[in-house]
Amino acid sequence: MGFKGSYFVTHATEFQLYIYAGLLVSLWLAEGLFLNSPFRNKWKHSFTNLLFILTALPVQLFMTIFLLLVSAWVVQHNWGLLNIIPYHGTFFVKYVVGFIVLDFCEYLYHVIMHKAKPLWKFHLVHHTDFQLDVSTTVREHPGETFVRMCFLILWVFLSGASFGVLLLRQTFQTITNITSHTKFRLHGFSETFIGWIFITPNMHHVHHHYQLPYTDCNYGDVLSIWDRIFGTFGKLDADKTVYGLDTHMDKQVSSSFTRILKIPFAKKIG
Ligand SMILES: [Zn+2]
Ligand SMILES: [Zn+2]
Repeated sequence: MGFKGSYFVTHATEFQLYIYAGLLVSLWLAEGLFLNSPFRNKWKHSFTNLLFILTALPVQLFMTIFLLLVSAWVVQHNWGLLNIIPYHGTFFVKYVVGFIVLDFCEYLYHVIMHKAKPLWKFHLVHHTDFQLDVSTTVREHPGETFVRMCFLILWVFLSGASFGVLLLRQTFQTITNITSHTKFRLHGFSETFIGWIFITPNMHHVHHHYQLPYTDCNYGDVLSIWDRIFGTFGKLDADKTVYGLDTHMDKQVSSSFTRILKIPFAKKIG
């Protein structure tokens, strides 16, 4: 990677951070203004979640270095699925197929985080929020951030995804991850139309219901097709949805940053 390449990569990462922060802040403010959520209460709830940025960011940025190195290596050596399938040099395979393959990998990642007990201990932290708003997006244990990035590096190694498609997917992922955690919901035709392709807030809210089988449905990251294909799609009315996790109902723990960090290391996990 030459100087120009490095410069572009550095700025692309910065650009991603700006999109992420811009969307997070504007939707947080919009929730407070348009959904009658008093800012004092909202801030009290969000503050704990926002502290996770401090632990996630160093891990995320450090692991991004390896992600980019692996992505550069697979492209240079024509390695991975996207480099061996027919028409592999075309825009369609590189970007469209690449996007779909990576999105399937992220669906698989989310299923693994729920089904493998040692990994669930870290992922459940995201599910222990008793209120759901846009700040829940960043409620991720640093242990999960590390595991998530390790998996992403593995997916890139197996698929042969280039930096371009990674950047494209990251942009879509930022939008769907943040919007799917907002209190705003879609209605009628917009939910049906958008929901056929993309994960919507309505769908992800079901994933945050405190009891099974709802916690184990709607695993999708950007595209909603995988849940429909693999039978993990679930529906639950907003007035019946209760946020949290039935094994972790202690609100004192759930609102304390240091106590949440210790959850994966507790002897007994439900
Ligand atoms: Zn989950
Ligand atoms: Zn979530």
